[in-house]
Amino acid sequence: MTGSLPQQQRHDHFSTRSIHVGSEPDPSTGAVVPSLSVATTFKQDGIGKMRGYDYSRSGNPTRSALEELLTSLETSPSGAVSQDSRSDASIGESLVFASGSAATAAVAHWVTLSAKEGGAGGKDGSTGGGGHILSVNDVYGGTARYLARTARPTGLEVTFLDFEKAGKDGIREAIRPDTRLIWLEIPTNPLLLVPPLRLIRDVVHSLPAATRPLILIDTTFLSSFYITPLLSDGDNNSPPLADIAYSSLSKYSGGHSDIILGSLTVSPLTASLRPNLLKGLRFLQNSLGASPSPRDCHLLIRSLKTLSVRMIKHGLNALRVAAWLNDHPAVERVRYPGLKTDGAFREISHLISPNAKRETLGIPFGGVITFAIKDASAEGAERFCTTLRIATLAESLGGVESLVEVPYGMTHSHLPQETLSTLGITPNLIRLSVGIEDYDDIVDDLQRGLAAVAATEKV
Ligand SMILES: *Cc1c(COP(=O)(O)O)cnc(C)c1O
Repeated sequence: MTGSLPQQQRHDHFSTRSIHVGSEPDPSTGAVVPSLSVATTFKQDGIGKMRGYDYSRSGNPTRSALEELLTSLETSPSGAVSQDSRSDASIGESLVFASGSAATAAVAHWVTLSAKEGGAGGKDGSTGGGGHILSVNDVYGGTARYLARTARPTGLEVTFLDFEKAGKDGIREAIRPDTRLIWLEIPTNPLLLVPPLRLIRDVVHSLPAATRPLILIDTTFLSSFYITPLLSDGDNNSPPLADIAYSSLSKYSGGHSDIILGSLTVSPLTASLRPNLLKGLRFLQNSLGASPSPRDCHLLIRSLKTLSVRMIKHGLNALRVAAWLNDHPAVERVRYPGLKTDGAFREISHLISPNAKRETLGIPFGGVITFAIKDASAEGAERFCTTLRIATLAESLGGVESLVEVPYGMTHSHLPQETLSTLGITPNLIRLSVGIEDYDDIVDDLQRGLAAVAATEKV
């Protein structure tokens, strides 16, 4: 069951756990991969005498296997020394939803229902009403839309803040008495900025522990391979950067552009200090009804077994492509946090997971690059994308195949013109999700695209 990780597996490293946790050989058949459990309902041995499951929306063995694996990847330090004083209850827990957006909905509901914390799980159905989320300003578009528009009838209020600019005092001022959650993302999209996570953590933890807002970090762009905000950052006794790790598993974790799923993982520390949080989120996972298909969970377990090798290759390809773009005369403004010349390099290199530091010597940082084509018009940017043969013009990211898009006209086109210019999202800005194809082919492709733009813009 979720949360009860066999003791010795806590000591295995990330890649080993990604292959084995939740995939222990079946005790009755010896099968080396978990079975796909498709039943919607489960036999009871007497009234209310369940064998762990009753109805598949509330819980399913395949989903449990995936949740157990995610919990291990997000919360177990690699090669940790024995921590046997910890009980299983303090391991933390993951919840999988039908999409990242469904996980967003559950968190937003939890905030409005948790005036008496865990209200959402309470039998009296008590609503706290209202509730406030303080969110990073250039948050994922679907998240902004859910928090600011879709959830408005629940009384939820949201403020979007540039945490970098606000600084310590500005952050403290923006936290209201009813602020129950701080929503962060690393790195932001499409500009790949890194909010000052350690500063935010310190400000939030200076507030009274029982009522301070919780911190959620959306780590979709890096995956649990590169960042694990629920683990302490190692060099001191400070608490972890987040209480909840959020991931759209539809991106790197799935990795093959064929699954939509999302997850929340609650840190062991937070789970033990605020037990009603998990209770409330489980209640919402069941009652909102956005349950994942067991078939997708099964496929995702398979995807995670190769997360390490894929992320290392994404990172190495992206680092080389970013350096190549940086030297190209037709390119201006390359953003890739793994480039030492990038403004975010210093901050993000402190935040990279102990696992990635070990596996990659801490150099590459994910597979997404943003760059602007020098003097290109909107048509030039489109010409670039449609000329490419290897990279496909499409939204989304994180698949084994390279994808390219123009945020100005695609993923971010709903933003007001003023916001677009403040953020620096210009018509010639390109977001490239570097796949794991051969580096030489990717670069040849980009070269061809840039040449096509040069030819067009001269006409
Ligand atoms: C895609 C994405 C989401 C939403 O996830 P879905 O699975 O598409 O619902 C949330 N955050 C980020 C950063 C994303 O890229």
